Amino acid sequence: MNCCKVLLAGFLFLCLMGPDVAAQGARPSLLSVDATEAAIGLLHAHFVFPASPGEISIAYPKWIPGEHAPTGPINQVVRLVFTANGKQLSWRRDEAEPFLFHVQVPAGVNQIEADLDFACEIGGGFTPAVCSSHNELVLNWNLVVIYPTAFPIDRNMFKASLKLPKGWRFASPLPIEKQNGDEIQFGMVSLKALVDSPLLAGEYFETFPLGGDHPVDLDLLSETPEGLQITAEQKRAFANLVAEATALFGGSRYAHYHMQLTLGDSIDHYTVEHFEASENRMPARGLLDPRILPTSGSLVPHEYIHSWNGKYRPPMNLDNPSYLDPVDGSLLWVYEGLTDYYGNVLAARSGLWTPEQFRESLAIDAAQMATHPGRTWRSLQDTTTGAQLLYNASTAWSAARRSTDFYPESGLVWLDADTIIREQSKGAKSLDDFCKIFYAPQDGRRPKPYTFDDVISAMNMVWPYDWKAFFRQRLDSTSPQPPLDGIERSGWRLTYSEQKTELIDQLQQTRKIDLLWPLWEKSDFTDLRYSIGLLLNDDGTVLDSAPGMAAYKAGIVPGMQLIAVNGFKFSLPVVETAVLKTKTGAPLEMFVANDASTYLVKLNYHEGAKYPQLSRDSTHPDILAAILAPKAAAKK
Ligand SMILES: [Zn+2]
Repeated sequence: MNCCKVLLAGFLFLCLMGPDVAAQGARPSLLSVDATEAAIGLLHAHFVFPASPGEISIAYPKWIPGEHAPTGPINQVVRLVFTANGKQLSWRRDEAEPFLFHVQVPAGVNQIEADLDFACEIGGGFTPAVCSSHNELVLNWNLVVIYPTAFPIDRNMFKASLKLPKGWRFASPLPIEKQNGDEIQFGMVSLKALVDSPLLAGEYFETFPLGGDHPVDLDLLSETPEGLQITAEQKRAFANLVAEATALFGGSRYAHYHMQLTLGDSIDHYTVEHFEASENRMPARGLLDPRILPTSGSLVPHEYIHSWNGKYRPPMNLDNPSYLDPVDGSLLWVYEGLTDYYGNVLAARSGLWTPEQFRESLAIDAAQMATHPGRTWRSLQDTTTGAQLLYNASTAWSAARRSTDFYPESGLVWLDADTIIREQSKGAKSLDDFCKIFYAPQDGRRPKPYTFDDVISAMNMVWPYDWKAFFRQRLDSTSPQPPLDGIERSGWRLTYSEQKTELIDQLQQTRKIDLLWPLWEKSDFTDLRYSIGLLLNDDGTVLDSAPGMAAYKAGIVPGMQLIAVNGFKFSLPVVETAVLKTKTGAPLEMFVANDASTYLVKLNYHEGAKYPQLSRDSTHPDILAAILAPKAAAKK
C-alpha cells in the first residue's frame, strides 16, 4: 500500500467512525483535577472534550485493571454536569450500560466541557475510593476520569493537570511537562497510561532510590513526619527485592518504576498493580512498629511482580481495549496465583520475611484452604472464572461458598509445580527458569497476552512433564483436600499447635482482621476456624462458620453473635481460653443471639486450641530452604 492509499484509507476510517471520532482524533481530551480540597475528600475534575454536533457517548471506567471486576466507584461521583459555551447540556444514561452517558452536542460547537466531583470514601473497605486523608492523597485516575468511548483506551489521548494543596509533594510515573508551584501539567498520554499511573501526594513525602537495571524509586508518603523514618535494614530489604525480582525475571520490562508506599491509618488498606508503579498502603506506624512489616511482608513484592506477571504478560482477554467490557478471569490462577507464590518467595529472598515467617504464612494459607469445604462443590477454576462475583462477596459464608481464595490455593499449586521440577531435575531446574522463559523480553514493552497452552508449552521447555494434566487436575478438583503436595515434597508438613505462631499473634495485635484471607473488615478478631470452625470479631459477631466443624454442627452460622461462653460474658480471651480448655475435658457452651432471639448451644468439641504451623519432615530434603535462598547475590 502506498502513502496516498494510506491517507485515503485513514480519511475513510474517520468518516466511517462518526464525527466525534474524527474531532477527538485531532485533539486530546483535557483533564484538570483540582485536589485542593483533598483534605476533606473532595476532588474536582474539569474536562474539555473535542466534539461535533450530534450525540457523544462518554463513559466512567467500570472494569478496573487489577481489580478484575466491575468495581468502578461510580456512586462516589456526586456531581456530573456537561456544558457547551457555558450552557448546560442534557444527557441520558444508557439503558443497558449504567456507566455510559449520551450527551447531546448542539450545532456550531466543536468541544464540550464537563465537571465531575468525586467524593473519597471515609473508612470503607478494600477500595481505591478511600483516597485521601487530612494530609494525604492517593489518586488512581480512574476515580475522576470520564472519557469519550469512540477510541480504544490505548489510543484515547489525554492531557492531564493537577492542582495540589499548598506545599504538598507528589510522585507519579506520568511525564511532567511543567510545574508551577502546586500546579502540575503532565505530558500527553493515552487514557490507558493515565489510569495505569497512580499519583501520591501529601505533606510528608520522601523518595528513596532502590537501584535496579532500570531505576526503581521507593516513594514513601506518610501521615506523620516520623513515619518516614525508614531504617537502613528496611531500605536494604526493598533494594534486595528489586535485585531479586529482576534476577528472577531476567531483567525489568519498565523504563522507570515507582514503588509507592502510603502510611496512614485513615487510608490504610488498598493495593493495586500497574506496569510502572504499584500502589501499596500500610498503617501509619507501618515502618516504625516492628510487628507490622512482617504482617505485610509479601504486599509490596506481590504488586511489584505484577509488572511482569499481569502487566507485561496479561492473560488473553484480560487486558481489554475498553473499561466497559467484561474481562476473562479464567487464567487468574496464573496472574494472581503465580504472583501470590512469588510474592511470598521474594519476601523471603529479599529479607522482608525470614524463612520462618514465610513458613508461618504458608501454614495459614494451607490451613485456610483445608477449612473451606466450598472446595467440594466449586473448583479452583470456577473461583477464577467467577472472580468478578467473589471480589465483592461478603466474608460471611466464605468457607462454604469460597472466596477469592484462588490466590493462596493457586500459590500452593505453583509450589507443587516448583518442587516437582526441583526434585526431578535434582535441583538443576526450577520454576525460576519458567519465569525467565515466559516473561522474556520480546518486541519492546508492549503487553504480550498469553493462553493456557502458552503456559503449558513454557513449562515443558523447563522440564518435560504432563503439565496440562497436572494443572487441569488441580484446577478442576472438587476434593475436600487442598493441594498440599508441594509443602510435603519440600520437606514440611501442615500441623496444628495449641500456641499461635508469631505471625498469627502479630496479625491479631497490629493488623486487626484485614490481612487475614479473605477478610477485609477492621476489628480485633480471633481465628478459631481450625478448631471449632469460627472466625469471630471482638463483639462476638460470627464473621464465618465452616460447615462440618463443631460450631456449625451446633447451629452457629455467620451473622449470629456470641453473648457468653461457659457462663462468662463474651470477649476474645474468654472464647480462646474456653476452646483451649476443651482438651482437658471442659465443656464448651455458648449463649448465642440470632437477631432478636437468644439461646444456649453446646459444642461437641474436645481437641483444644489449634493454630496452623509447618513442621519439618526430616525424611525429605528441605527444598523450601533452597527455594527461599537469595539468588541475586549469587548472580553478581
Ligand atoms: Zn495481585
